[in-house]
Amino acid sequence: MLLMKKEVSITNLSKRILNRRKFLGLASFTVSEILSSLDKNKLYAKKTNNLIEEYRTFRDGHVFCKNNQVFVSAFKAMRFSKPVHNDLYKEIRIFHTECPDFTFGTDYEEYFRALDYKKADLVFQGPVEPALQSKFSFTDENVKTGAVYCYWIASSTGEPEGPLPVKVRDPDVWWTFEKVKAKIDFLKNAYPDYIQVQQIGFTANRRSITAIKAGQAEKCIALIGAVHAGEAGPELIMYVLKKLLEKHKDLLKKVSVIAIPSANPDMRDKLAFGNPWYIRRNANLVDINRNFPTDWEKTEQNYGYSTDDPQGYTYRGQYPASESETTAIMNYIKQTKPAALFSFHFLASIAGGTLLGSKDAVNDKGYVNLCYKIARPYWKGMNLNEPKKEEIVFYCTAGSLPTWGYKSLGIPAFDVEDPFDPADWAQCAKDHTDTSLLQKYQQLQFQGFTSLLTSIGS
Ligand SMILES: [Zn+2]
Repeated sequence: MLLMKKEVSITNLSKRILNRRKFLGLASFTVSEILSSLDKNKLYAKKTNNLIEEYRTFRDGHVFCKNNQVFVSAFKAMRFSKPVHNDLYKEIRIFHTECPDFTFGTDYEEYFRALDYKKADLVFQGPVEPALQSKFSFTDENVKTGAVYCYWIASSTGEPEGPLPVKVRDPDVWWTFEKVKAKIDFLKNAYPDYIQVQQIGFTANRRSITAIKAGQAEKCIALIGAVHAGEAGPELIMYVLKKLLEKHKDLLKKVSVIAIPSANPDMRDKLAFGNPWYIRRNANLVDINRNFPTDWEKTEQNYGYSTDDPQGYTYRGQYPASESETTAIMNYIKQTKPAALFSFHFLASIAGGTLLGSKDAVNDKGYVNLCYKIARPYWKGMNLNEPKKEEIVFYCTAGSLPTWGYKSLGIPAFDVEDPFDPADWAQCAKDHTDTSLLQKYQQLQFQGFTSLLTSIGS
């Protein structure tokens, strides 16, 4: 009788515990285990051990590079954020592996998803003081400029957060938004009589888009950079402006240069801060060079993408000129009325030599002649001596900036593309641009535009 009573009371207790266990999401225990685990901490420890096999202990892992260092961080998973879980974060582990076979333009994010931290090096293990009890950060100074790495961040036990891919980009080759701003401010202060700076709009992520006019003449040519984030722009354009101001104020009195050094700074910054793979579109995932209103509705297919496909790299947007970057360029160009327009493309901060025009212009003799009047002095100044390559390629599609320049404004409008030199071409196409290659193309662009300004101004 007594025994039976006891059994009944245990059954009631176990029912209550079972209900509570359901609420806590605990794995199943026997009654005797529950009775021996009534200590709350032991119960939590048991629960935690079961959970870390099923759930990650970190969330929102992040990695970026700045000034040749890599910064890795992650937040505690909310599931493990109670004081009773503190033991889990007594030590932090950081793994990384170098990725020498990662190929720009061939490999994208999927390359890193296939990597396994178990084959990576443990580069740090030890205590880290979290910010606000929740964010753990680690700085890796032992990295090589130009190298691609993949990181993982882990607590004392359990599966790590990752993969977190990063390329240690040379800050002299990839200028951040802040650096471009500083270079513009420098010119404005150094040459107040020659420089006008104008905020012409905002990007999708609300960065300001800046235009700069160098010169005192109303007549002008336009240079536009980084419409495609992973290509060329501010590093070449700002150098051209600086050198023209240093050496050819005489020319700038006759013909000004107006510039939007970085038309897509949201995504250009992603690259400058270490995104390893090619990025083309803006933060809304729209290709700005397909978003201009001229023939926008005509669907185009290039590189395996269709302009009406929101997942495609050449997506034209929801409607003509839907993007604030596009309207900022259009308004500024309409306001300044340049005699010619050069939009810098190709790859990894390098463009030069090859000029592309709108494909619709190929049979328009008057316009083609006008384009050559601009292109020839530009090529002559670059002194590349490649007469066979000094041909405008009429290739640009519906919705592109050159097609808008041709059909809506009637001005010579070019995408500045591939370098003529095959070795230079291969180097930047693989995202191996270094300072010496950049300096070579800065100088070539300076020579090209000096020659063009001389021709237009005379
Ligand atoms: Zn491009």
